[in-house]
Amino acid sequence: MKYFSTNNKSPLVGFREAAIKGQAPDRGLYFPEHIPRLSKEFIDSIKSKSKEEVAFEVIKPYVGDDIPETDLYRIVSETVNFDFPLVKVNSSIYALELFHGPTLAFKDVGARFMSRCLGYFSKEREGKVTVLVATSGDTGSAVANGFYDVPGVEVVILYPSGKVSGVQEKQLTTLGKNIHSLEVDGTFDDCQKMVKQAFADHELSEKVFLTSANSINVARWLPQQFYYFYAYQQWNEIGAPVISVPSGNFGNLCSGLVAFISGLPVKHFIAACNSNDVVPEFFTSGEYHPKPAKATMSNAMDVGDPSNFVRMIELFGKDLTKMRESITAYSITEEETASTIREVYEKFGYLPDPHGAVGYIALKKYLQGQPGKRGLFLETAHPIKFYDVVEPLTGKKIEMPANLTGLMAKQKVSTKISTYYTEFKNFLLNK
Ligand SMILES: *Cc1c(COP(=O)(O)O)cnc(C)c1O
Repeated sequence: MKYFSTNNKSPLVGFREAAIKGQAPDRGLYFPEHIPRLSKEFIDSIKSKSKEEVAFEVIKPYVGDDIPETDLYRIVSETVNFDFPLVKVNSSIYALELFHGPTLAFKDVGARFMSRCLGYFSKEREGKVTVLVATSGDTGSAVANGFYDVPGVEVVILYPSGKVSGVQEKQLTTLGKNIHSLEVDGTFDDCQKMVKQAFADHELSEKVFLTSANSINVARWLPQQFYYFYAYQQWNEIGAPVISVPSGNFGNLCSGLVAFISGLPVKHFIAACNSNDVVPEFFTSGEYHPKPAKATMSNAMDVGDPSNFVRMIELFGKDLTKMRESITAYSITEEETASTIREVYEKFGYLPDPHGAVGYIALKKYLQGQPGKRGLFLETAHPIKFYDVVEPLTGKKIEMPANLTGLMAKQKVSTKISTYYTEFKNFLLNK
């Protein structure tokens, strides 16, 4: 498989180079030259296949010969070694729970796959790869956990001191080994600025091989298809499901669309957004106008200029009419999100997190006009990660999952730095 840049000004590359580079040199996003088709036999017999077999078949054409089959099978097996249950919420709606991984959010899947691919590629070259990530919380913890103890890879995470949640800080700072946490006396934007400066620093890049674990990397994006197939394996209703995807940067929805174009049966997709409504506005007006992000309780979706929007357009040959046939977009208010969390818990005994709640209500709105149809929403994070929002709404304390109790007791280890670039650079040169 070859990948082109959505800006069309960079040469074609293979999977290996796309995964190592992250972003194309012309600042475009890498995109597969064609979407492979899965055979009808594969789809018809999917219920009898294991998670590992499905993941391997789905990802193999995208990786090509860049990773031998036995190594790729090991990589996908390690990527999906937790559960992806489809849970019935009521007579027409199911939740696909994507929070059973180590950091309790769906980003674990992409981060685990990408880290193992980079670990494999680093074996072929001399010296270590250093992954830089600036984080406001969730991405950093999934990446840190995914890359933990991967040989040949060092990870440096920058996070704003005092501005991530207690659980997130523990997830970022208690791993040790090849994971280094820098606690920056500044904001998330300061962290991001220093990372960008490091990538542009030629003197530094001659000494340290730097790469990014940004969500636009194809090795984080494409494996997210796996769980759409796992949903279908567990789907026992008549007719294909309507699938609602809580969306921010739209990587997750785009991976579902890729699965659909490959042959996965899906009735319709719902792009479920919070009050950051750039994409719903685009579906209404046909015009794309980025806006500054607004803060909401589903904060992992507070994005005003989604980076995967270009991929979504590309998947439909830039044809808005075709996009509208397959996707309906909704913007959900904060009040609707809050009342949904309360209502779903009280009526059905199911507790969604704020992101899942946005997915649930958008799906419910769509199904109201589609008698007899049934659907599922992706439950992208465990509600405990947002207990400060969820607990006051239900008045019930959320039980702490076992792997978090151990985590909270661990000792934080971080290096404090200022926002001076030289201090960061010296750390990278001397670590
Ligand atoms: C990142 C994230 C999202 C948004 O996913 P995108 O792929 O950026 O659209 C939704 N929910 C949670 C919990 C997340 O962490």
